[in-house]
Amino acid sequence: METAMTTTYQLLDGKRCSEALKLEIATAAAKVKAARGRAPHLAAILVGDDGASRTYVEAKVKACEEVGFRSSLIRLPETIAEDELLDRISGLNTDADLDGFIVQLPLPSHIDPERVTLAIDAKKDVDGFHPVNVGNMVLGLPCFLPATPSGICELLKHYSIETAGKQCVVVGRSNIVGTPMAILMSRNAYPGNCTVTVAHSRTKDLASITRQADILIVAIGRPEFITGDMVKDGAVVVDVGIHRIPDSSKKRGFRLVGDVHFEEVAPKSSWITPVPGGVGPMTITSLLLNTLKAASN
Ligand code: NDP
Repeated sequence: METAMTTTYQLLDGKRCSEALKLEIATAAAKVKAARGRAPHLAAILVGDDGASRTYVEAKVKACEEVGFRSSLIRLPETIAEDELLDRISGLNTDADLDGFIVQLPLPSHIDPERVTLAIDAKKDVDGFHPVNVGNMVLGLPCFLPATPSGICELLKHYSIETAGKQCVVVGRSNIVGTPMAILMSRNAYPGNCTVTVAHSRTKDLASITRQADILIVAIGRPEFITGDMVKDGAVVVDVGIHRIPDSSKKRGFRLVGDVHFEEVAPKSSWITPVPGGVGPMTITSLLLNTLKAASN
């Protein structure tokens, strides 16, 4: 009879890792300020008043304060015309006092996110979404890496997770998470040198693919979708998803879960990210790293 192996898992603690990185960023930011006479400066454009987007942007602004960066939050009305938003972006592109900026997604449906991404000067695109940065990433040239995949790489590095020669399965192929993650894990670098499989909504028998993963990275946007039976014993599991699930036992009326069913998957894993406190804080810290890089260039 086959029995499931239970391992003692360890947490890939994004909160802890990001705190350590933030100390290094703060030291570097102070040096930039001493050399240039001003601190690194990040701006964020928030269009409309979506609650989740506001929370994300405010967390980014707070993180800037923690490391001694200057930050500017530009709130624009939901009804803003696309051309007007593009004008604002053009102004930020030429603002010599600003090192980098982001436009918080999602945008209202009347605004084309591709036009917005293309309008941002690649040298200030600290989200790493502009095609110039994506192309340079693919070629292994200097660029701003997209924040979430880059944060995951930093987390794997922080915990010295071995990646060379491993089977890595990335579930999800979005432009901001799954696709760049797969590229980074297959490049000739550390972390990297994995044999990477990308799974998506058309993948047949997903469980048979995910069970092959030594390193499983999940970014699909479906709460607790990856269950224990889909994971190999001893796998390293990175959960990008974040969802609010109604829970009357909580003061806030909800709890946060990821795309991975933590209670089932953790006992089978060697390392796993918690939700919250895993990938989320690392994403914000990567944005700070990109801004520091922009300010240092
Ligand atoms: P998208 O919705 O853009 O992409 C989801 C991907 O998952 C798509 O490629 C889709 O396939 C695939 N997918 C959907 N359903 C299935 C399925 N049943 N089986 C296999 N693949 C499936 O999401 P994002 O990449 O932007 O985000 C994913 C999750 O990560 C979300 O929960 C989001 O909130 C979270 N997130 C968290 C961040 C953080 O900092 N913690 C940052 C960014 C995102 P197809 O292409 O075929 O449609």
